[in-house]
Amino acid sequence: MALVRPGEGDAPEHPVAPWDDLQMTYAEDLPELVLWWQGDEVPRPELAVLNEDLAAELDMSVEALRSDDGVGILSGSRAIEGTGSAALAYAGHQFGQYSPRLGDGRALLLGELVGPDGRRLDLHLKGSGRTPFARGGDGKATIGPMLREYVIAEAMHALGVPTTRSLSVCTTGESIPRDRVEPGAVLARTAASHIRVGTFEYAVRVGGDELVRRLADYSIVRHHPLAAQEQEPYRAFLAAVVEAQAALISRWMLIGFVHGVMNTDNMTISGESIDYGPCAFVDRYDPDTVFSSIDHGGRYRFGNQPSVALWNLSRLAETLLGLLSDDEEEAVEVATAELRRFPELYELQWRTGLAAKIGFGSAPVDGPLLEDLLEVMKADGLDWTSTFRLLADELRQADEQLVSVSTGEPILDWKARWIEALEAEGRPLREAADAMDAVNPLYIPRNHLVHEALEAANEDDLAPFGELVERVTHPFTPVPGADRHAAPAPEEFASVFRTFCGT
Ligand code: AMP
Ligand code: MG
Repeated sequence: MALVRPGEGDAPEHPVAPWDDLQMTYAEDLPELVLWWQGDEVPRPELAVLNEDLAAELDMSVEALRSDDGVGILSGSRAIEGTGSAALAYAGHQFGQYSPRLGDGRALLLGELVGPDGRRLDLHLKGSGRTPFARGGDGKATIGPMLREYVIAEAMHALGVPTTRSLSVCTTGESIPRDRVEPGAVLARTAASHIRVGTFEYAVRVGGDELVRRLADYSIVRHHPLAAQEQEPYRAFLAAVVEAQAALISRWMLIGFVHGVMNTDNMTISGESIDYGPCAFVDRYDPDTVFSSIDHGGRYRFGNQPSVALWNLSRLAETLLGLLSDDEEEAVEVATAELRRFPELYELQWRTGLAAKIGFGSAPVDGPLLEDLLEVMKADGLDWTSTFRLLADELRQADEQLVSVSTGEPILDWKARWIEALEAEGRPLREAADAMDAVNPLYIPRNHLVHEALEAANEDDLAPFGELVERVTHPFTPVPGADRHAAPAPEEFASVFRTFCGT
């Protein structure tokens, strides 16, 4: 197999089986960071879901994916002829504690594909069996959590958030013991790459500055090529990752997404969201929202995500110090200067995004209007997603009557000030309302709907899951009769909802 350097790949000319043209430039350049490994053979691999839209986008042959060979490969149980698969090594800070060796305990990189647009993507499996990185785990995954990752990643993509994508979920014919026994499953996903903050933490430990330099060089070519043209390319690389993460986290906050396990091994260098385990969307707005059953201290609570991102980026910066300057003190100064830009970059995008959500387009909003809205929403316990659609509806009838979203007085006062501010901007209210609807989703993977769809899937009924995927992959388009998918969770569900890791 000819090795094509990152970024130089020629796109295939026709729909192909994804394994025909797989490359392994990461393993070729960074052999210290991979462990060649084969997935488990499984008794009865069957395709449960295939993302034909993604396959088409990447010019993959759906026929080949659906074939016995295809299902064998997507379930990890058949080796790809001529190439190998690899478990990736990484370290990471988990809930603030350093683990020197994590790595893909139940996942494998099948290789890199180059899409029609020349973009290089990893094709990666999760749930394909134990690897030497597995520690105590069984290497397996079950249908519920894999469908969960499938639908949330696709919803995130439809909401405009950089993310890994879901290609397929296969069942394996195994019964896997969890809280209860569940059908075994394997997810296939694509990603800009699987290079994480934790990959740099691993590299600096096992190979020092020399290996970190090669990893950074590879990451620059693949993700942040402009950094190569700068006088200080490694500083520019750190700056680019800081920027990508500030953009990502502000997107999360604007759609009410709680990742749930923002360990450094779950933060990418590309700026894509990755690893949808105990994640969930907030219903009632509250920055203190925590869903994960193991996040006792609330480290990864909704409102803490920007601070945690900066904490994680600081761990990345530490691994780069030897590349930033020969003088340690100067290296720390450079790193600190780049990290200091995060809060400002984040805040700007968050405020701009929030302003757009209430009809200001890209115009800045002066004064405390945004903060006051958040305060009212928190005090009234308003649903994060639907409130913005309701506000747009009310704007359309603002001349007639202002109807309170809930019963609270304060929002009436806030609404009056909001409308005044829009009018002062010279924005026709109907236009503002339409602009709001274009950025505020109707359909997100609401926790109670995801729960319901996965329970049905466990009983072999994939219909609710299919409907949910259809809604959340077209999040802005009202569908007659789909009110249930837009409605907030029933109160009794919202207050008890919990999510789980590593299942
Ligand atoms: P996560 O928090 O899901 O990103 O996973 C953290 C680490 O645990 C990674 O190294 C995973 O590969 C590993 N892991 C999670 N679940 C399992 C499992 N069932 N078997 C083996 N390793 C696992
Ligand atoms: Mg992970």
